[in-house]
Amino acid sequence: MNSEDTLLTAILLFVLGLPVGSFLNVVAYRVPRGETPWSPARSYCPSCQAQLHARDNIPVLGWLLLRGRCRYCDASISWKYPVFEAITALLFGAIGLKFGWSVELLPALLFASTLVVVANSDIDMRVVPNAVLFVSLLFGVVAQALAYPDDWLTWALSATIAFAVMLIIALAYPRGMGMGDVKLAGIMGLYLGRAVAPALLFAFLTGTIFGLAVMASKGVAEGRKTKVPFAPFMAAGGVFALFFGEDVIDWYLDTFAGG
Ligand SMILES: [Zn+2]
Repeated sequence: MNSEDTLLTAILLFVLGLPVGSFLNVVAYRVPRGETPWSPARSYCPSCQAQLHARDNIPVLGWLLLRGRCRYCDASISWKYPVFEAITALLFGAIGLKFGWSVELLPALLFASTLVVVANSDIDMRVVPNAVLFVSLLFGVVAQALAYPDDWLTWALSATIAFAVMLIIALAYPRGMGMGDVKLAGIMGLYLGRAVAPALLFAFLTGTIFGLAVMASKGVAEGRKTKVPFAPFMAAGGVFALFFGEDVIDWYLDTFAGG
């Protein structure tokens, strides 16, 4: 594998990430509303239900050309659509750079797609959809078995421990987290192995900083009442750990456990 192949892989995945990002938007929108992602096949305007023109469906560009408004009813279209499409493409490209053309791409792309959907649904509907976690679990086990067959005990244990730790935290502080976040932690353990530890630390750190910022801007009483979705922070932690988790663990072990 030379660097030219890696760059080509990254570019291909970036381009692939744009339509995949569109599809993940559809999944994130429809699944929490009890609809199926594949029917109706064409995207529709959530406001007037008109089927979208093919060119309005072009990732990122379609939204920009419409200036964020429906062609038929002029309702504004959420900024989240182009942003999540762009995030998916960037993530896919970065994954291509990190892993190159290898079987390890498979779980990494599945994991990134899972994180994009749950972050989107949690911001949109305050829910981490069970169906998405279940599909991710099934495909994730197969992808991990193909990519890391010798490490199955590590990822099975990491999934179980991450799930258990988050369950204890959710039971102790029921206001802060839902069962969706607990199950998501298990999925993150499956894909990340022991790197799920820095992922969850990252999530709690950034989530706390965000919560404090909300309190600072709205006042403590109002800020405490504001429900901040936690899955986006877990997703950010998952992305962080996918790229830097093993480095963080090595650094930690070198520094505090004498290697
Ligand atoms: Zn419309």
